[in-house]
Order: sequence, then structure tokens, then C-alpha cells
Amino acid sequence: MDIVLLGPPGSGKGTQGALLADRIGIPRVSTGDLLRSAVSRGTALGRRAQSCMDQGLLVPDDVIIGLIEEVLGLAEAANGVMMDGFPRTLAQAEAVDRALEAQGRRVDHVLNIDVPDRELFRRLSGRAREQGRSDDTPEAIRKRLAVYGEQTAPLVQYYGDRGVLREVRGTGNIDTIAARIAAVLGI
Ligand code: AMP
Repeated sequence: MDIVLLGPPGSGKGTQGALLADRIGIPRVSTGDLLRSAVSRGTALGRRAQSCMDQGLLVPDDVIIGLIEEVLGLAEAANGVMMDGFPRTLAQAEAVDRALEAQGRRVDHVLNIDVPDRELFRRLSGRAREQGRSDDTPEAIRKRLAVYGEQTAPLVQYYGDRGVLREVRGTGNIDTIAARIAAVLGI
């Protein structure tokens, strides 16, 4: 099963994605985690990505599309993937479609986790204090939320038109949200 997690930064995609991936038995792939690891190792990918990430901007599509093609082609991904943090643009969504289609697969479900902006800002500011992520400064948080609205929110329509979009309310505790997700997926 191939699942895309949509939802703005702070919506709980990472947490819910990990729980759901475990439950279904597919790997969770997070482009954010892959990029942070590349930055900390100082690889060429990390050097290209870092300044965009620190400013709360998206890393350019050509870089991310290469990464998407690589991860969706891995043997571990052959039975499905939980896509966390990608696709984030229409060009990336088309790249995901192409990579899956080449293997006779398609995106089965897209979970759109909905959380009000004020709550997102509160959660992200809390995470900044706990984890010290360099893109959790107030300025970068505002930028990331704006970028989500401009570049990623259009994917709601893209997947909605295809009938694979599942809306989930992302407020409440972790177990409640996980139960809502299981219910919309019928698992
Ligand atoms: P995340 O952990 O998913 O919130 O990602 C952290 C940062 O990594 C984002 O603010 C972007 O700068 C970058 N990033 C992660 N995934 C993508 C993607 N699919 N496209 C572009 N940039 C990304």
C-alpha cells in the first residue's frame, strides 16, 4: 500500500506516519529526515539543502525528485511506502506517480491532517524549545506555514480529483488521531 501524508508542518505527520507504517508493515520515508541526515553528514545533498531548510523554504524540485526516484526504487520500498513530507509540489507529485507507475503501483490513499494555524504555531514553537531544530525559529515557522499554503496545499485538489484524499482532524491526543486515521482507511 502506498500512502501519502499531507498536512502542514506541526500537524503530526511524523508521529502518525510512524505509527501507521508500523501497523501496516511498510517503511516510512521522510524527505525531511533524509535531508537533515545529509546536512549533519555534510554530503553534497546536505550542502545544497541546508540554506533552504534553515530559511523554511522548499529544497528545489530537481534535488528532491532525484531523492524520490532513489527511495521509491529501493527494494525495501517494493511493497509500499508511507510518504512523509513528500510530495510537496505538483512536480514532485508527478514524479511520485511516474516512479510508482513504472512498478505498476499508484498512490492508494492520501491523508490530509487538518490542524488550525494557531495550534500549528503553538506546537512548532514548543518543538523549537525541546529539540532546537534550526528551522523552528518564529520567522522560519511563519515561512514554512506560508510555503505550505502556496506550494503544497494545491495537492489537496490534485488528489481530491482522483478520489484518494482522506481528510482527518489532527487535534486531540495521539491515540485519538491514530484511531481516526485507522477508521478512514478502514483498517
Ligand atoms: P520536514 O521535516 O518534512 O518538515 O522538512 C524540513 C525541511 O526540509 C522543509 O522545510 C524543507 O526545507 C525540506 N524538505 C523536506 N521535504 C521536502 C520536499 N519534499 N520538498 C522540498 N523541501 C523539502
